[in-house]
Amino acid sequence: MIKIENLSKIYNTGIVSVEALKNINLSIEEREFVSIMGPSGSGKSTLMNILGCLDKPTEGIYELDGESVQDMSDDELAEIRNKKIGFIFQSFNLIPRVNALKNVELPMIYAGVSANQRKERAINALQKVGLEERMHHNPNELSGGQKQRVAIARSLVNNPSLIFADEPTGNLDTKSGNEVMSIFQQLNAEGVTIIMVTHEFDIAMHTKRMIVCRDGKIIEDKPVENQIIIK
Ligand code: ADP
Ligand code: ADP
Repeated sequence: MIKIENLSKIYNTGIVSVEALKNINLSIEEREFVSIMGPSGSGKSTLMNILGCLDKPTEGIYELDGESVQDMSDDELAEIRNKKIGFIFQSFNLIPRVNALKNVELPMIYAGVSANQRKERAINALQKVGLEERMHHNPNELSGGQKQRVAIARSLVNNPSLIFADEPTGNLDTKSGNEVMSIFQQLNAEGVTIIMVTHEFDIAMHTKRMIVCRDGKIIEDKPVENQIIIK
């Protein structure tokens, strides 16, 4: 699904240039569930932004489902994102004065889905994360864990084959964090590929493969032994 070869990313900020990723090689197959770890500044966000088609490499190859992403225009990248990728963030990124249902419907408005279809698919997605009874609540009436579940529902409505989650449990207590990981495990079992950045080793233990970055390189990449599975 994902193939990265000799990929580098250099940020030029006028006076200094920073090599955020140095000659990285990485393959990720369909249905994998990957955690990316590593200290601050090690290149995790840069890698996620490139993998998620939000940014392009300076050098090297990035193929997503056989398509060469590194040569695409911004419009083509946006189309790929809308078509096959869901994003989840540490700070939820919900729209404040709009209820859960409308928040979940939003990506379908951009995708041109009809109003009836939008509502039906949004309710289905909210059911999937166990929040249909909260659909008329605004984000400020929801707990952190509930907000993140709304964000997950929103990421699902265009049926992505790939989900990127950036510190999805970073603002959550252990119980809510485990609920999020449980939903990810369920989605992964249904066939969605999930790539997640986390600082927490315990959270990474819920995934199937652990990648560790340091100084713009991948220094460790291995299967998780004794994966914690939430029933
Ligand atoms: P992490 O997510 O692991 O904290 P980042 O990918 O954010 O790492 O950063 C990797 C390196 O690239 C750091 O040295 C950071 O300062 C630098 N960097 C990240 N984004 C930019 C940018 N937009 N402009 C310049 N330097 C950047
Ligand atoms: P920490 O130093 O964060 O407490 P540990 O001592 O538990 O971490 O683990 C040391 C290293 O071994 C970590 O970098 C981690 O990548 C690896 N590791 C530990 N347990 C597992 C496991 N079950 N599966 C894969 N890697 C593991």
